[in-house]
Amino acid sequence: MCRVIAIANQKGGVGKTTTCVNLGIGLARAGKKVLLVEADAQGSMAVSLGIEEPDELDVTLVNIMEKVINDEDVEPGEGIIHHEEGIDFIPANIELAGLETSLVNVMSRETILRQYLDSVKGQYEYVIIDCMPSLGMITINALVASDSVLIPVEAAYLPVKGLQQLIKTIGRVHRKLNPGLDIMGILLTKVDRRTNFARDISAQICEVYGEKVHIFGNCIPLSVKAAETTAEGKSIYLHDPRGIVAEGYFFLTQEVLAGEK
Ligand code: ADP
Ligand code: MG
Repeated sequence: MCRVIAIANQKGGVGKTTTCVNLGIGLARAGKKVLLVEADAQGSMAVSLGIEEPDELDVTLVNIMEKVINDEDVEPGEGIIHHEEGIDFIPANIELAGLETSLVNVMSRETILRQYLDSVKGQYEYVIIDCMPSLGMITINALVASDSVLIPVEAAYLPVKGLQQLIKTIGRVHRKLNPGLDIMGILLTKVDRRTNFARDISAQICEVYGEKVHIFGNCIPLSVKAAETTAEGKSIYLHDPRGIVAEGYFFLTQEVLAGEK
């Protein structure tokens, strides 16, 4: 059985990519077979995993999705890169923005990514999709391909409006395109433990959403160590193993594993 998780929030800079990489590698460290898929034209997941120039890659998610659109076969393992920390990943780059525009005229345009993932899911226990900061057609593809959505929220201001829109979009995808989709939970990120502000935000989020949406008990603290990993091409577990962010992602991984049915 494979579980597909989309990491989504249409706001940028909230920790989607950082969460995708460190949850994915956390699950791999717990012995799970994991594939990370970058559904973001920025290529920042590729960079975080050690690819210096994603825009120079020959094969990315774009080529794979184009093959699905054109009914061409995707070779086994095509476009999949093995990372030394025990995960596989499919990078993306700027070309994904062009693909998003051209999807408008494609038949079954919402299901292209799902069609591809259905063919590789058998080899993994978790597929985690790093979404772009928008609710456009590529993000819809990610939601249609997923079993659940993890929503990172930066504990910096009360993001009620954006969150409402995201939850509404997830609800629409659930009703119209993917009845199996649920919200795994809201994850508070970049929590500054030195202030009460983050605690206020998390209390408010619990108040507004807590009845409908699970809020992860464990949050990810703010630390410059997390920001440094992007340039290092490795996870927080190697960069700062004893730090608070490694601990945060370790406990998040445990929560995700505990949620398995
Ligand atoms: P998104 O994918 O939502 O745009 P990122 O994961 O790329 O967000 O994070 C945005 C920026 O914040 C990056 O520079 C990243 O290194 C940094 N960052 C992520 N998590 C933390 C954290 N816990 N503490 C400090 N900086 C963080
Ligand atoms: Mg990102």
